[in-house]
Amino acid sequence: MAAELNRKIAGNLARVEARLAAACMRAGRQRSEVTLVAVSKTRSLPETIAACACGVRHLGENRVEELQVKVPALAQCWQGEPPIWHMIGHLQSRKVRDVVSLCQVLHSLDSLVLATKLEAQATQRDMILPVLLECNVSGEPNKYGFHAWEQPGWPALAEELLHLGECKHLQVRGLMTMAPIVDEPQAARPYFSRLRELRAFLQRQIPGVIGPDLSMGMTDDFEIAAEEGATLVRIGRAIFD
Ligand SMILES: *Cc1c(COP(=O)(O)O)cnc(C)c1O
Repeated sequence: MAAELNRKIAGNLARVEARLAAACMRAGRQRSEVTLVAVSKTRSLPETIAACACGVRHLGENRVEELQVKVPALAQCWQGEPPIWHMIGHLQSRKVRDVVSLCQVLHSLDSLVLATKLEAQATQRDMILPVLLECNVSGEPNKYGFHAWEQPGWPALAEELLHLGECKHLQVRGLMTMAPIVDEPQAARPYFSRLRELRAFLQRQIPGVIGPDLSMGMTDDFEIAAEEGATLVRIGRAIFD
């Protein structure tokens, strides 16, 4: 059973690796510039362990409840190097206390109110929490994230984000987005390039507040995201299905 799972995931990972490496090559980037986050949400503990056994170092989850179960369970069963847990889903304010002790990177910081709560919790624990700012660059109403789809609104957004400079216990590593679901991966490209342009704008406008990372790209569009400068890709189905 475990051997079969390992074989399947190893094969999937090898294919993802080859595609990622080819995308980096096309864009003149090094494969080492892109961190692969294996999205283990909804996957069983044996599947998650199998991914670790196949060399996965970064795991992504989108619900605090699932982190609460999986993080300790994996720590018990997995003898190798502990994985780095990434929280990639929307975080409710009341879960802030739990999340800071369960994940090492939060990709879904989507409001200043949430930032203030995370800052308070991180201060209390005397820790620095790496975060990414989730940005809605598509304008889809069902998406979380800072409103960033209209370029004329970017100066106001920069002014708002300036307040993050006061959060000394948050390390703002960069920006995160989810592209709309499209028929053709190429159709996601404008959203990824917009996030890259937004990063450049913010780094110019409010220097020192926003780090260089771009978390973008999933199973259907990670190659396009890598071509457009992703430094973190979040891949679930292509690894586990
Ligand atoms: C589920 C999820 C992913 C991975 O999606 P796949 O299509 O399975 O690769 C990436 N990012 C977020 C925020 C997700 O919720």
